[in-house]
Amino acid sequence: MKKVIIIGANQNGIFAAYRFLKLGFDVSVYEAKDEKDVSYNWTDDIDPNVFKEIGIEMPDTSCYFPKKSWAFVNPAETVVLSLAGSQETDISIWRRPLNDYLKSLLPKDFKINYNTKVDKLIIDNDTVKGVVVNGENIEADLVIDASGVMSNFRATLPSSFNIQANPDDNEVFVVTRTFYEHNPGVEMPKETNKAYLLHLGEKGISWCITTDDEVDILIGRVGALPDKSKVEGLKDLQKDNPILSDKKIKGGDVCVIPVRYPISRMVANGYALVGDSAFMTIPMMGSGVAAGLLAVSMLADTIEKNDSTTIDNLWNYQVAFVKRHLTFYGIDVLKRWLLQTDAKDIDFLFEKGIINQEIMAGGTGGEMKLGLGAILGIVWKGKSKLGLLIKLAKQLPKMDKVGKLADTIPETFDEAKAKEWQDNLDNFYKNL
Ligand SMILES: Cc1cc2nc3c(=O)[nH]c(=O)nc-3n(C[C@H](O)[C@H](O)[C@H](O)COP(=O)(O)OP(=O)(O)OC[C@H]3O[C@@H](n4cnc5c(N)ncnc54)[C@H](O)[C@@H]3O)c2cc1C
Repeated sequence: MKKVIIIGANQNGIFAAYRFLKLGFDVSVYEAKDEKDVSYNWTDDIDPNVFKEIGIEMPDTSCYFPKKSWAFVNPAETVVLSLAGSQETDISIWRRPLNDYLKSLLPKDFKINYNTKVDKLIIDNDTVKGVVVNGENIEADLVIDASGVMSNFRATLPSSFNIQANPDDNEVFVVTRTFYEHNPGVEMPKETNKAYLLHLGEKGISWCITTDDEVDILIGRVGALPDKSKVEGLKDLQKDNPILSDKKIKGGDVCVIPVRYPISRMVANGYALVGDSAFMTIPMMGSGVAAGLLAVSMLADTIEKNDSTTIDNLWNYQVAFVKRHLTFYGIDVLKRWLLQTDAKDIDFLFEKGIINQEIMAGGTGGEMKLGLGAILGIVWKGKSKLGLLIKLAKQLPKMDKVGKLADTIPETFDEAKAKEWQDNLDNFYKNL
């Protein structure tokens, strides 16, 4: 029986355990945190179609509710553009109950090793042979790295593996998400989900989501989140949202979200990256739950077809993931472009009505004066209607080009060809 070790037990690690147990593997999962601390005590937005695509039932309806419409606020906060009435297909899902649901799919006697940190990988020549846990060597045919964006393992791989050690600073959002009480006596705002673009003119976003019980505040900046941004950001949101009090209910931790194209080498002999460890998020907003679960499913499908865990076979998983997510590459071009766009230009577009509700909602596919709003709306919602971007004369060719470049991924593994593809892709972004 083949053995697989999974590092990390957020949703991707748990789902990987489910799929590989079904394939008849001997599965061990190691999670550094205590069970109760894994994942988040909040909801995130995901496309519910992912459950069908990965072949499991939707979780119980108590786990999720329909996503509320967003309203976008320009940097100068002079315009609030509501998307109310536009079609929303996403759901807001409670993250810990999602994990409980995934765990309920595992055999009753299967145990995840919580409070157990993997110290390092065992690497022998060109192959990952297992992991070291509490000083003990544990061998495996395949190690699945689901340990998140700051995976400690990528950087320990020999350079010949051609796996990038860490994302660049401008490729992550550093965010803090905190939940506050309502200020008593203040009515619910008209717009319950407000997203502040280039908030305070800084590179990043903030949001203020008001529910019946609390106010959910996210402040996120590219590369680093200075204390000043946290303090000034909160003050500014309080000014604009009188319902937001100072009384904290929960949260406040700082988290890192990858916002870049997927890592350009995600496999090695005996090793596969899935989820945030392979930067598998929508590059603008950092939504990664659906793509991570799909990746796990694709990895398991690859092994189901051919149970070899050498790079020749694992490469098929990378090919499947890349080809399914070609739009991510173009979205990253846009993200990089938007982050260098002056906040004042965005204000102008909002204030002149060039960015309007219809455009922000993704448009109807008809004539567009400008593609920027459409892109923001599309990207925000995690959709991939690249056809709507045709009018964005300067960025579209680049988006198109990088999508096509990603699509040239060699169908079968050959080190020289794989490296050439990866260099072309990485250099494309370096030279933007
Ligand atoms: C504020 C915020 C809002 C977000 N909103 C959305 C959203 O609306 N929609 C969406 O789809 N996504 C959203 N995301 C992104 C989403 O949370 C991630 O894409 C997803 O959680 C990635 O899952 P993962 O399993 O790959 O990695 P992680 O969630 O990072 O889990 C990795 C796990 O590995 C464990 N680990 C790390 N190192 C070790 C080690 N050495 N040994 C053992 N265990 C280890 C960690 O403790 C952790 O539990 C959001 C993220 C944040 C922070």
